[in-house]
Amino acid sequence: MIRSPRGTKDILPDEINDWQNIEDVFRRITKLFGYKEIRTPIFESTDVFSRSIGESSDIVNKEMYTFEDRGGNLITLRPEMTAALVRACIQNSLANRGSLEKLWYFGPFFRYERPQKGRFRQFHQFGAECLSASTPESDAEVVNLGISIIKELGINDYTLLINTLGSNESRQVYREQLTTYLKKYESDLSEDSQRRLTTNPLRILDSKSEKDQEIISDAPTLGESLDDESKGRFDKVLEILTELDISFSISDKLVRGLDYYSHTVFEFQSNELGAQDSFGGGGRYDGLFEQLGGKHTPSVGFAFGVERLLLILESIGKSQESDNPYDIYIITGDKKYSGFSFKVANILRSKNLKVYVDLMDKSFKSQFKESNKLNCKYTLIIAENEIKNNMFALKNMKTGEQEEYSLEALSDIKEII
Ligand code: AMP
Repeated sequence: MIRSPRGTKDILPDEINDWQNIEDVFRRITKLFGYKEIRTPIFESTDVFSRSIGESSDIVNKEMYTFEDRGGNLITLRPEMTAALVRACIQNSLANRGSLEKLWYFGPFFRYERPQKGRFRQFHQFGAECLSASTPESDAEVVNLGISIIKELGINDYTLLINTLGSNESRQVYREQLTTYLKKYESDLSEDSQRRLTTNPLRILDSKSEKDQEIISDAPTLGESLDDESKGRFDKVLEILTELDISFSISDKLVRGLDYYSHTVFEFQSNELGAQDSFGGGGRYDGLFEQLGGKHTPSVGFAFGVERLLLILESIGKSQESDNPYDIYIITGDKKYSGFSFKVANILRSKNLKVYVDLMDKSFKSQFKESNKLNCKYTLIIAENEIKNNMFALKNMKTGEQEEYSLEALSDIKEII
């Protein structure tokens, strides 16, 4: 048997209601905030990601699915959306000339990671991006949008971690201070962190190694290097969240893995997830459009991992009931009436009823049995007698009552059932 590749999974019909419920919430809530959907290709020129996410990031370094296509072009299956979305905006002149553009997306993403609970090689993200706005209000809006979605899904127990990386200038000052401090402990740092010391020292702050964390506990903090403007900006974001009764926890170690962030960064965490406890995150990226060849377009956004949202919903008992696939089962006594039963089925479907007709050449009795098994609310019987009298019989499967109606009554079926 050929199996699906490691780290991928089939989403089966039994699970689809949960997916559709989440998608429905995304669609509804983003609409209320005025966000429009965008869909872009699932593969891009590798440059889109290597030029934006950063050569030193885990994603570019070791997780991208990159290959040369038959035309010799270097292609990457998208590992995240922000860079691809920015590429699409530049190409299609969206958010051009500083106009506010609010976009959302949903789709599959690909990272060559070690699969474990909540971590896949093909996974799905929903995200929203607010383009052209540089205000702290826009940061607060995207956090507020994220929280509104979490609440609408019925998730009450989660943590919002938030931090500011400050302006490029203040981050540069901090980077130097941190490097000077960490250099003293270089040989004690984990291998990954030693490498990051030259490529991206800020990433060492969220290292999972205990030894690294011990060293970091005495390191200078980002907050101490912030210039007044960055500080004031962050305070305004927090002020709005407080006014909205959104609880948050400031974490000066939160830097997130990608190079393009500045100022506000945030992450949503849940205790229901185990080691992979982050189910969403985002931040401000003011320089990304320019990095990809566009005009200066300060922007902010976030993404949720859909598989992780599903794990949380399952764990708190909020999975969707699978709904009844059929309302009415049409039973025919003779194959010569199959065309007629199809016709009746179409009339019923035009009244928004879910209809089953036998496709397996079952006997009259087996069709009855099956309609019970399928939990159909009604069976509609078309047999010799009924046809002769221009009638059909309708049996309520719950009460067992059966009544006859003239065929004209089909157009008013909703008044009968
Ligand atoms: P990131 O783009 O790394 O900030 O990730 C945003 C969210 O996507 C995370 O919080 C996860 O919920 C989800 N995510 C990232 N990588 C994976 C993965 N390999 N498998 C499943 N979900 C993921």
